[in-house]
Order: sequence, then structure tokens, then C-alpha cells
Amino acid sequence: MKSVGRVLSVASECVPLVKTGGLADVVGALPGALGRLGWEMRVLMPAYRSLRAAAAGWTVVWVEEGLWGGTGRVLAGDVGGVQMLLLDAPHLFDREGGPYSGPAGDWPDNAQRFAALSWVAARIAREGLADGWVPQVMHVHDWQAGFAPAYLTYGGTGGVGTVMTVHNIAFQGWAPAAMMGELRLPFEEFHPGGLEYYGGLSSLKAGLVTADRITTVSPTYATELMRPEFGMGLQGVIAARAAVVSGILNGVDEAVWSPAAEVPPFSASAMKGKAAARVALCEEFGLQVPGPLAIVVSRLTDQKGIDLLPGVMPDFIEAGGGLVVLGSGDPTLEGAVRGLAQRFPGRVGLRVGYDEGLSHRMFAGGDAVLVPSRFEPCGLTQMYGLRYGCVPVVAAVGGLADTVIHANPAAISAGVATGITFHPTDGIAFGTALRQLVVLYHDKPKWARVQRNAMKQDVGWDHSAAAYAALYAEISG
Ligand code: ADP
Repeated sequence: MKSVGRVLSVASECVPLVKTGGLADVVGALPGALGRLGWEMRVLMPAYRSLRAAAAGWTVVWVEEGLWGGTGRVLAGDVGGVQMLLLDAPHLFDREGGPYSGPAGDWPDNAQRFAALSWVAARIAREGLADGWVPQVMHVHDWQAGFAPAYLTYGGTGGVGTVMTVHNIAFQGWAPAAMMGELRLPFEEFHPGGLEYYGGLSSLKAGLVTADRITTVSPTYATELMRPEFGMGLQGVIAARAAVVSGILNGVDEAVWSPAAEVPPFSASAMKGKAAARVALCEEFGLQVPGPLAIVVSRLTDQKGIDLLPGVMPDFIEAGGGLVVLGSGDPTLEGAVRGLAQRFPGRVGLRVGYDEGLSHRMFAGGDAVLVPSRFEPCGLTQMYGLRYGCVPVVAAVGGLADTVIHANPAAISAGVATGITFHPTDGIAFGTALRQLVVLYHDKPKWARVQRNAMKQDVGWDHSAAAYAALYAEISG
């Protein structure tokens, strides 16, 4: 396809190379999806120790001297069709451990490490690579790349447009004000409308005040971030830039999350395979469930509302429901779910750990997926639920509110309902939603209709890619 433009994507993680969270999935999925629309995207990230051997033979396309105590070289290579640019700066990134921490915890020089990534990104955006590739847009992700739009803005943009995407507002890249000089930031920008953040610095804020456009991973979360309950201190900064803030939903990998690829396969028009998967799932956990079989696949944290389960489950089980939970995290919450499994043998199953294969079997065999989150920037499991006819029962926050159409009377009669939403995230609303689930489940024609609607939803990357492409077109003149 003819190239309509070039984008430099800057992040600290990218699937399949390095992943600690959903950010890596987005960064890894966008180049392919945007490529189909003619946007040529290259992804710049650090050459962590685990990546250096594979990149050893790659082409050097940039050399940066004096990069916080050493030289950085940018190596270009292809990883599964994605054009990667790895910043090889051994003094910063060739270390034992994960991207942000080693055996003794967070690296004390994380501010400098990711300032270095951002510095090189801004230089490449402004000047282009040795092989002649010059981007029109720089798209940066989260605090690790937050200084990149700032460096570009303060050092001269060269006409390059910038987009900053917030995946997780909780991580803000804080550094003391005394580091302004070391981080190569202009002192005159140290004021509340600029770089200053509660007396210090935040690379995330730096990106938010200097990028041309701000996006986050769902429209509802974009609005929520302007409120103190969700903005984690940055609500004012984001609200002040409301005119350039938008929410673009993440997609899911439809090849990986496909009922047609499960054993046995099923589809909206051939649901026998799903019924068989339900029987198998019940056998795996020794369950007998006359009503809806609910599943939870989640980190076990307060964010995800797991603490609400002990309060609402007894009534749900009394009404015929069952529950399978897969997750790990907070030991108190693990204990609470374990308590439910002990109290309701044959109705509640628990598997502690991370198990991709089991999660597929659960979405295939489950009737409903429960996502009672307190906040949820986008959320993926409700989208897997939609794909698999595992009807989402979700708190109406963030991306959950944007992806599930509540089965209220109007949506039912219009034939568009795809799940059940509730608000606020508390035991009263969640309990009501579960009672509605039981009623809906036993109304077989309506239930089948909701499942079919759910399975028809388009949750792939094409919509998102089109929205990013429109944004790039706007800012690249
Ligand atoms: P978050 O990133 O906040 O944890 P998301 O819903 O955006 O929540 O993404 C979570 C991802 O991790 C989903 O793909 C989900 O299926 C997966 N996941 C979470 N816990 C487990 C687990 N214990 N086993 C397998 N997959 C899990």
C-alpha cells in the first residue's frame, strides 16, 4: 500500500519483545493495523539485556554521544513484520531484571534512563534517521516517553506533530525539581502551567502539557481523567487541555481470541461447541451449576472490585449461579475467594495463578464474565466475553461503559443489548446486576439474542487504527 505518512512510536514495552502490561499489546498491535491504512510506523524502545543478542546484527541508524554517561546507538530491524528501532545504550539498559527494576527494586536512575529514550526519540523525530526515514508524527506512550514531546517542543519541533497516549495514569514519572538541569529541561518552564508538578517534575505531565494531542484508551476514561476520583493529581492538567483530549478504545487480537479456533469450535450460529465447553469447564472444577456459570479472569486487586464477590455471591448461588475465578494478586482477596470455594463446593471454583490456556477454556465455557472494576481505562476481558458469547456483567466505568450495551428494556426491544452494566461499583448495584443476569439467562430467546449481539460486536483493531490515523492526519498537516 502507498504510504500516507510516517509515525515514530515511542514506548518502553512492545509485544512480542517485552511486556509487563497492556501497554505492550497496544504498541505491538498498532503498526500492523495502521500499516493497513497506509501509515508506516516504526517503534522505538530500549534494547534491554534480553534483546541485545538478537539485535546485534541490525543496521545502525542513529548514534547519540553523551547520552547520560555513554553512547547510544539505534539499531533497526524487523520483528514479525514490525519495524523496530532499539536504543542500545548498555550503560542504561543492559541490566539484569525487568524494564524498570532489578533484583534490588526500581532502578534509581529511571528518570535518566527514560529521559534518554525520550531525548533520542525527539532527535530522530526532528532530524530523521540515517536511512532517510523522517516521521511526520511522533506518538508516545505513558510516562516513560513523556519527555519526548517536551524535548521536541522546547528544542524546535521541525514540524512534527505529537500524540501522547495515557494507558495508566497511576504511573507519573516523578523526579525532584533539582533534576531539571540534568534532565535537560529549560528552567523557565518550571511553573505550574509547564513542567512543575507538586514541587517536582513528572515526565507524564511534561508530555501532557506539550503534546499536540492527548489520547487515552477509552472515551469514558478520557472524561473520567478530568475528575479528581480518577485523575490521580493530573485531573487539572488534563481538563485544561480538554479540547485536544480523546479516547480511542483498544482492540483485541481476533486471531488469538476466536471461538472458531477453540476446541471444539463454535460461532454465533453454531453454539453446540460452547455448550460442550461449559460441560468440560464444570468437569474441570467439579461443578454442577443449574443457572448461569459466571467467570472472573483478573488480577485480584481492589481496582478490579474482587472484594465485592463475597458479599454478592451467596444470593447468586442461592439463585442457581456458579462461579469460576482465575487470578492472582492480593493474598487477602485470594483468601476471600478461597473462602467462597470452600463454602460453596460444587458451585465455586478457584485457580490461583496466571494461565492463558485456562482463560480461553473459561471464556468458551462460561455464560457470563464479571468485571466489577472501580476504574478500568479500557479492559480486555469484557471484550473476550463479547467475542465468546460469555455475556459481560460490568461496572459502567471507563472502557467497560464504552464496550457493553446494557440490557435495559429499550436496548432489549431494539435488539442491541450485549450485556449488563451497573453503577456505582458497590455490592448493591452488583447484586442487582446478578439478579438480572439470572432472569435473563432463564429467558432463553432473549438470552440467545444477547449472546448473538455480543458475538457480532467488532472488537478488533481496525476501528482504533482508523481513529489514530485520523488524529495523525489532523496534526501532520
Ligand atoms: P489489567 O491490564 O488492568 O490487568 P485488562 O483487562 O486490560 O486488565 O487486561 C488483563 C489481561 O490479562 C487480559 O488479557 C486477561 O485475560 C489477562 N489475565 C489477567 N489475569 C490472568 C490470569 N490469572 N490468567 C490468565 N490471564 C489473565
